[in-house]
Amino acid sequence: MGNEKYVAIVGAGITGLTAAFYLKQNNIPFKIFDTSLKPGGVIQSKRNDDFVWETGPSTGTLGKPEAMELFEDLDLELLETAPSIAGNRYIWKGKKLHPLPSSPISGLLTPLFSWKDKFGILLEPFRAKGSDPEETLASFVKRRLGTSILNYAVDPFVSGVYAGSPETIIPKYALPKLYALEENYGSFIRGSIHKMKEPKTERDKKATKKVFSAKGGLSRLIEKLTEKIGLENMVLGVKDFCVSLNGNSFIVNANGTSTEFSKVVFTGSARRLPEAFPFLKENGLDAAFNVSYTPVMEVAVGFKKWQGMPLDGFGALMPSKENRKILGVLFLSSLFTGRAPEGGAMLSVFMGGIRHPEYLNFTDSEVYEIVKKEIQETLGQKDFSPELFEITRHSMAIPQYDKNTPARIAAFAKAESMYPGLLLGGNGIGGIGMADRIRQGKELALRILS
Ligand SMILES: Cc1cc2nc3c(=O)[nH]c(=O)nc-3n(C[C@H](O)[C@H](O)[C@H](O)COP(=O)(O)OP(=O)(O)OC[C@H]3O[C@@H](n4cnc5c(N)ncnc54)[C@H](O)[C@@H]3O)c2cc1C
Repeated sequence: MGNEKYVAIVGAGITGLTAAFYLKQNNIPFKIFDTSLKPGGVIQSKRNDDFVWETGPSTGTLGKPEAMELFEDLDLELLETAPSIAGNRYIWKGKKLHPLPSSPISGLLTPLFSWKDKFGILLEPFRAKGSDPEETLASFVKRRLGTSILNYAVDPFVSGVYAGSPETIIPKYALPKLYALEENYGSFIRGSIHKMKEPKTERDKKATKKVFSAKGGLSRLIEKLTEKIGLENMVLGVKDFCVSLNGNSFIVNANGTSTEFSKVVFTGSARRLPEAFPFLKENGLDAAFNVSYTPVMEVAVGFKKWQGMPLDGFGALMPSKENRKILGVLFLSSLFTGRAPEGGAMLSVFMGGIRHPEYLNFTDSEVYEIVKKEIQETLGQKDFSPELFEITRHSMAIPQYDKNTPARIAAFAKAESMYPGLLLGGNGIGGIGMADRIRQGKELALRILS
């Protein structure tokens, strides 16, 4: 048995790679293990002569300073931020796309929301604070803003980000900043005004609403991290991986060999915890694994010549009330350079989610026909003959921060206190967005350093 008193990181997604990068910067020896053959986890960009597309996440938001810091520490040249049109979001209602309002005037004029809710916003600061911290997002929004805002702003947002439903998501865990506005200030409007007035440190200012990718696709970020970390520090395509205990150390069994480590960091999906750490199962920590992941189908559709509506925004979302077959379309080539030829378009179409997991069973030709009809009807591209059409099915795409979340958070903490040296991360805790993942990866490294 090898005896290497250093850190084992389980998972070479953005979380594990960020943790490894900061350990490397601080000369802490580590080894990353992943059952996948390639680093990046769900981040996998692809390219051909005409297009660059994503099969996992397509864009992130620089909403945490750690995300900007990672680019600064790696290579700022790598960062690509979307132009201001990324602020334009379209919502489907009554056979038409409408811009999501971005100002009080457009809020008043939009057909998306009812007059009752438009004027009701004025009363939001005076509405009573909720009393149930486990209240669903649907009830939270209905109570503070009204049903039409739930149906035509929040529901499509939740589809777009979580492929989930406001009926199951709990804002305290999924949208902690929004939850805190009511909790701390009694109102979204009052809270937002307070927040705007609060002095910001230079570090706080690094967190922005800017939409980001990496130049040439998100995999460039993974390639840069891999280069800095060193492939020699990764064991990819690992077989028979599991961790056992040996006093205060951990024995990592992989590819038929056992190595002792003093610390183990987990960054995979919570569902896969028992596979990596069978000893957790025997200690009543099952709540740690309890996370539902929504299935998502992502279809990359590339056109050398785009003749539909101007793609002057981030994308279009379909509220569940409108009963369309797709969740939404992201206008990738409008956000980042080099994704499609001049005059063409690269779109990411999303289907499935919590409401229609069965769509992932459609055959490729059924998916083609659905996407064709949806793009023709919603974006007006009558001649549907894309040069690129590629389907990626994610059976476990996005973890839902639902009613199981508090028990999961408690079980993570309990496991860490029962087994000092075990650090549990991954997107079952701490947020699903790439900026959340980068923050967690850095925090895991800092915990080891301290
Ligand atoms: C289709 C899709 C679209 C998304 N869109 C966006 C978006 O637009 N913006 C955004 O910010 N976020 C988006 N997300 C979410 C975001 O991409 C993820 O939360 C994030 O990339 C997860 O990174 P991670 O490193 O935590 O996990 P992962 O990328 O899942 O990596 C974990 C790694 O751990 C390995 N692993 C797990 N268990 C074990 C084990 N037991 N033994 C060995 N190895 C193991 C896995 O093989 C994997 O490689 C999207 C996600 C998906 C799936």
